[in-house]
Amino acid sequence: MKKNITVLSGDGIGPEIVAEAIKVLNKVADKFGHEFEYTYVDIGGCAIDKYGVPITEEGMEKCKSADSVLLGAVGGPKWDSCPPAIRPEKALLAVRKELGLFANLRPTKLFPQLADASPLKQSIVGNGIDLLIVRELTGGVYFGEKKTEEVNGELVATDIMPYSEHEIERIGRVAFETAMKRGKRLASVDKANVLDTSRLWRKTMHRIADDYPEVELSDILVDNTAMQLIKNPTQFDVLVTENMFGDILSDEASMLTGSIGMMPSASLSSTTLGMYEPIHGSAPDIAGMNIANPIGTILSAAMMLRYSFDMMDEADAIEAAVNKALDDGYRTGDIMQEGCKKCLCSEMGDVIVSNI
Ligand code: NAD
Repeated sequence: MKKNITVLSGDGIGPEIVAEAIKVLNKVADKFGHEFEYTYVDIGGCAIDKYGVPITEEGMEKCKSADSVLLGAVGGPKWDSCPPAIRPEKALLAVRKELGLFANLRPTKLFPQLADASPLKQSIVGNGIDLLIVRELTGGVYFGEKKTEEVNGELVATDIMPYSEHEIERIGRVAFETAMKRGKRLASVDKANVLDTSRLWRKTMHRIADDYPEVELSDILVDNTAMQLIKNPTQFDVLVTENMFGDILSDEASMLTGSIGMMPSASLSSTTLGMYEPIHGSAPDIAGMNIANPIGTILSAAMMLRYSFDMMDEADAIEAAVNKALDDGYRTGDIMQEGCKKCLCSEMGDVIVSNI
């Protein structure tokens, strides 16, 4: 199969970690007989330096016309004082909007080899945490009408949280499909005891559940979910929730693994075009030192193969190669443990490539 991938390396450690993911993709292409073609586009601070904007129109077109987009990270202190309209993160919001990326998938996996890195006790994390949060990304209170007005001599601020049935249905279907590819258990997170949007959310999830009889659907209130993620995180397989709840819960969940450098993510549209990126930022404190952990980006590339290209065996091969690297004791500095082999960013990439 031939696929065109637009690569947005970005700033800080972005180019270093993306280079390792490309090495891994090239090995997969060789082994499984695919052809991946890469188009590099500047994004974030490096684009501001070159063109005065965080992404050019031409760059955006290259994202839209690709089969998929791989992102490193953007930003850094150098661009913190840029005017809001041309800050590095603006480019990410623009790409999400232009590509219609309404579904954010964040797996939270605590590899058993790294159980010590979790802030939770061994008795809670057991043999490792493996859950996935599906977050609605383009609706709800972040995008609803906002206003601040004076009422009876004081300021009153209002944020409206709209959700339409079709918005809930399309994220719901992504969640059910995702659950079908995993453990077939889906927890729908809402606040249906208080919010009308949540009542519509729950009703819609149960309506579409009829189309996925193999998936076991349960409802859970968002406040209880926040507690259960700490008390018993291994009970979950896939969780689906609206934008703001998902924003908060996915950050909470990512901390359970204790290692931000390991975590991938995917943002999906209604076509197969998606954007794949590690959840961390550009880590300016370690940029250019070849010591960043590339695993979050490499696992993001695996998600690209699974969700955009339907290449399941290829995605499995990358994940197994990462697992073997950890089993064999290879660790970048951020996940280093006693008795393990400390390696550089590029060395970790090489080990994973050789495991495929
Ligand atoms: P960060 O995630 O970049 O770094 C937080 C800490 O984690 C740092 O100590 C860093 O060294 C470490 N870290 C992050 N990724 C690592 C990796 N792969 N390997 C080893 N260590 C890693 O968050 P920050 O410092 O708050 O933000 C830095 C810049 O990144 C800011 O400009 C911020 O706006 C930007 N940012 C970008 C994105 C994105 O591009 N999606 C996301 C978050 C933050």
